[in-house]
Amino acid sequence: TEPPAETTTVFRSTLPDIAIPDHLPLHDYVLERLTERRDRACLIDGATGETLTFGDVDRLSRRVAAGMRATLGVRSGGTVMLLLPNSVEFALAFIACSRLGAAATTANPLHTPPEIAKQAAASGATVVITEPAFVGKVRGLAGVTVVATGDSAEGCVSFSDLASADGSALSEAAIDVANDVVALPYSSGTTGLPKGVMLSHRGLVTSVAQLVDGDNPNLHFREDDVVLCVLPMFHVYSLHSILLCGMRAGAALVIMKRFDTLRMFELVKRHRITIVPLVLPIAVEMAKSDAIDSHDLSSVRMVISGAAPMGKELQDMLHAKLPRAVLGQGYGMTEAGPVLSMCMAFAKEPLPVKSGACGTVVRNAELKIIDPETGLSLPRNQPGEICIRGKQLMKGYLNNPEATANTIDSEGWLHTGDIGYVDDDDEIFIVDRLKELIKYKGFQVAPAELEAMLIAHPSIAAAAAVPLKDDSCGEIPVAFVVTSGGSEITEDEIKQYVAKQVVFYKRLHKIFFVEAIPKAPSGKILRKDLRAKLASGFSNG
Ligand code: AMP
Repeated sequence: TEPPAETTTVFRSTLPDIAIPDHLPLHDYVLERLTERRDRACLIDGATGETLTFGDVDRLSRRVAAGMRATLGVRSGGTVMLLLPNSVEFALAFIACSRLGAAATTANPLHTPPEIAKQAAASGATVVITEPAFVGKVRGLAGVTVVATGDSAEGCVSFSDLASADGSALSEAAIDVANDVVALPYSSGTTGLPKGVMLSHRGLVTSVAQLVDGDNPNLHFREDDVVLCVLPMFHVYSLHSILLCGMRAGAALVIMKRFDTLRMFELVKRHRITIVPLVLPIAVEMAKSDAIDSHDLSSVRMVISGAAPMGKELQDMLHAKLPRAVLGQGYGMTEAGPVLSMCMAFAKEPLPVKSGACGTVVRNAELKIIDPETGLSLPRNQPGEICIRGKQLMKGYLNNPEATANTIDSEGWLHTGDIGYVDDDDEIFIVDRLKELIKYKGFQVAPAELEAMLIAHPSIAAAAAVPLKDDSCGEIPVAFVVTSGGSEITEDEIKQYVAKQVVFYKRLHKIFFVEAIPKAPSGKILRKDLRAKLASGFSNG
């Protein structure tokens, strides 16, 4: 139940709201200043040094769109799966989808064939764009045409053929910016299995503008910035906060396909990279690397970390290595569009004064903290569930109105399932998680998915998957298992059984055999009890 309006404490940015050109489709918005930026570098392939200017990106994405329409029949309302590592092709295909009014559903190419098949079917994708190395995973998917980048692969449409279509004649699709979905990432949200998160043109434009538009943007990407893009674009954090924010700001992106510390240092030096967005494990490797002292990283003016909290020790280590850089933190959730809060980039201090803070709420948005039991709004400095409202939020989950209604209430508040508080300086601190989600190195692991797999095994009667805190990965997935009567199944057998079916980050690291899974009278697993058990050092003996 909602408290009366007058008792609701709503937190807003201390920055004034801005006018957001949310009548524009996403591609027109990020390329709005094309005329003056035509010859500026936009995408730089870190491996080859090949550079596409903003003009190239505009021209090539038109061609790819024309090719997708003519050869593959992609139309407004259609869905294309991008099963690609970081690459120029990813960016071009994404912008091309936007031009066509089609949705891009993004997935990790390291997913197993069944994981990919599930998302392709659920999202209604008719086209999968991938690299030749992954074609084997999607060949034979019903109703799907496979497009391969690089050298042509048998039975596939070649991406370079699409990119040689005549883009000059491309007629603009009629786009309903408030309703048409442009990105469809998958996320389990606060509960259950992964679901398609419908991000509209207006939602993404709003969220990008909240970070980089206006005089005092939260996330200060500038036109003269060179931004490292090593985080995977198939995750919304990189897609939104690096690719789209970078393009809108007019910055150049240096694209790295996979992370390698030395290579990253070299790229920073070669391209004079100014902004380094990271996740925790990469920050740890970077800070601990001996090579950091022998490379000139003086161009870096900001290191941004999101997706998980960064402790004081790591912040101090990074600061010692990169004394000139501001360390910024942000907080996102796919369904929130995705960014809820971001450090104030114009802060002059090289480090945030308070460790663990993940910025202040973005502009043009409202944030409140509620008591998870009563739903009542809480004042400053009191932890509760973080809720956010604004035009940047997802439209809802694809084909799942029930899950949507359980996440965004009738007044438009999105309930994050995160526990946090807002301090006296409007800074947000996340202290716990109410929802089931496990986050391994920033990747989502949905316990419901692992549990369904576990109980499908004849030797397992009941199971619960929960996060175990881990210094280098943030959290690792572990499971409590009740075996079926008489079964002698071993920990290794269970681990192997799961490992065969899932991408690397969903693998179980530990199995705890128990007599029963604690459940509430409603049947809901009492995950808090299990997490408490782990925190107290529970083991198989
Ligand atoms: P995703 O939808 O994959 O981006 O995951 C969103 C979830 O990651 C959030 O709801 C939080 O639980 C967690 N998360 C994201 N950013 C942070 C952060 N800065 N600190 C702590 N947890 C975070």
